[in-house]
Amino acid sequence: MTGADKHPHPTVDASSPWVVDVARELLRRPGQMKTLRRDVPAPEGFGLEMIGVPVGEPIHLDLRLESVMEGVLASGTVETDVTGECSRCLEPFTEHVDVDVTELYAYPSSVTDETADADEVSRIVDERIDLEPAVRDAVLLELPVTPLCRDDCPGVVSPDPDAWAFVPAGEARERIDPRWAALQEKYGGAGRTEN
Ligand SMILES: [Zn+2]
Repeated sequence: MTGADKHPHPTVDASSPWVVDVARELLRRPGQMKTLRRDVPAPEGFGLEMIGVPVGEPIHLDLRLESVMEGVLASGTVETDVTGECSRCLEPFTEHVDVDVTELYAYPSSVTDETADADEVSRIVDERIDLEPAVRDAVLLELPVTPLCRDDCPGVVSPDPDAWAFVPAGEARERIDPRWAALQEKYGGAGRTEN
């Protein structure tokens, strides 16, 4: 790789399914376009604390790659399933997300490249573009910080919140409510007669 020392730049992993070689069809050919439809297994890091794309879950890319003066413009949609934990009832849930992605990959030495900071725009590196950072950013922006299993989730309803601490999530409502009712029925009246 001649010139690598003079112009240090990030490298891309050519074997990554997120990396697209744009040399032959798009490089320096404004107006040229190609579509990219690809399923990529989710790597780590596609999520927030309580919600995210499970590692290995297919992420469907449906993108258009256009050669423009400054580089290659990638735009289109990304679809996948995310799993989360409801911030109210703590139940796990899965939902489909569908996000728009638009990202310009600038040529080295283009005006965009010269005038933008390293982390401000994506670059074409070794005649390849790496879709992962842009797609990850788009997906993460779509995820709620406080996910809900459904908009009107009532959460866990309990007269004494401490009593639920040791009950496994999911068993709470089904098992404890009848037991509480039975105990109250059995001892509620008896307590009064003892005194
Ligand atoms: Zn919920």
